Amino acid sequence: MPRRLLILGSTGSIGTQAIDVVARSGGELEVVGLSAGRSWEPLVEQARALGVRRIALADPDAGARAAEAWTDGEVLVGPQGLVELVVSSGADLVLNAIVGSAGLGPTVATLGEGIDLALANKESLVVGGELVTALAEATGARLIPVDSEHTALHQLMAGLPVGAVERLVITASGGPFRGRSRAELAGVTVEEALRHPTWSMGGKITIDSATLMNKGLEVMEAHHLFGTPYERIDVVVHPQSIVHGLVDLVDGASLAHLGHPDMRIPIAYALHHPEAAPLPTRRLRLEEVGRLTFEPVDVDAFPCLRLAREAAVAGGTAPCVLNAANEVAVHAFLDGRLPFLGIPAVIEETLARLGTEPVRAFESLYEADRRARRAAADLVEARV
Ligand code: NAD
Ligand code: MG
Repeated sequence: MPRRLLILGSTGSIGTQAIDVVARSGGELEVVGLSAGRSWEPLVEQARALGVRRIALADPDAGARAAEAWTDGEVLVGPQGLVELVVSSGADLVLNAIVGSAGLGPTVATLGEGIDLALANKESLVVGGELVTALAEATGARLIPVDSEHTALHQLMAGLPVGAVERLVITASGGPFRGRSRAELAGVTVEEALRHPTWSMGGKITIDSATLMNKGLEVMEAHHLFGTPYERIDVVVHPQSIVHGLVDLVDGASLAHLGHPDMRIPIAYALHHPEAAPLPTRRLRLEEVGRLTFEPVDVDAFPCLRLAREAAVAGGTAPCVLNAANEVAVHAFLDGRLPFLGIPAVIEETLARLGTEPVRAFESLYEADRRARRAAADLVEARV
């Protein structure tokens, strides 16, 4: 019997690569549902190609158009439609490849139903880490990361004895602006920021990689996935993106996970877990790579990593506020309404204004997300 897979965010960078992984699975994976934000045409095309009968679009107008153009199945609409898709699709496994905190609702729905979750949407863990992991534990659903560094750590830690791990290290490429001073970052353009040296990804995470906010989000992701305290999770800059993660052991040995950068590897790992499946990716030959280099993060030039760590340690709604402000600021930067250095400035000011509050239920998070978006939007507006 094939594993029944639901792909949320199927039209994006991770989503389309996941479809490629499914095509190479030799029938072990079967897609039973697909969703997108508003790009209905590619979504309908995917549904036709895969023979899928149920799709969802978060945007109601896009949903209406899809329903007009595609009559071979059901089109669910709006954030509630996404949740309905999760609950009603009969999936064994959901891949959440939605971008941003919009992914939290579907994450909660999946784990709440006790369905295994392959999670690319790291924002779910950043925003709702404690509640999300508690929910997985309560229902017994498996939570498998889809992120090169976390896949590395997940794989490295499988089978280690209890008490063996001393420290986790995730690598950062450093993004397109590695080596630049703060002053040199003032005038960078959107086009330059989108030119990532090693990975080809969606727009939001590419900007997060240029500001290093992506590593801040990933430190929180690692903390929630592995239960490791923040002071034992480090980031090191590694421009070649060959080493993805390291686990330092209590006896002084370190385990590293290596490979050419290709997200189909982490995607396939999560979709086939706990089995393994072959993939025709480029093989690593160290003599061809020659040199691997490492350097510390320049936190003066890239304050987003510091802001993320501070929010993580503050806890409560602070990571949710940080994430929402970041989404608003990145969007504004991509639209040409905010300079690059305005991104950390807007986030810092939003955090200062809203502070942190305890999280009692998911509703506190949705409320904090809304308030942070409003505050950050006002701050962006005030700067122009
Ligand atoms: P993307 O922008 O390429 O794709 C995002 C997908 O989500 C699209 O299908 C889009 O239609 C959908 N979407 C957008 N807004 C939505 C909304 N409000 N509601 C529902 N669906 C919505 O993004 P991506 O690069 O594929 O990244 C997806 C997630 O995976 C992000 O959380 C990112 O951090 C994470 N991730 C991506 C990569 C990568 O290589 N691209 C690597 C590691 C982690
Ligand atoms: Mg990553």
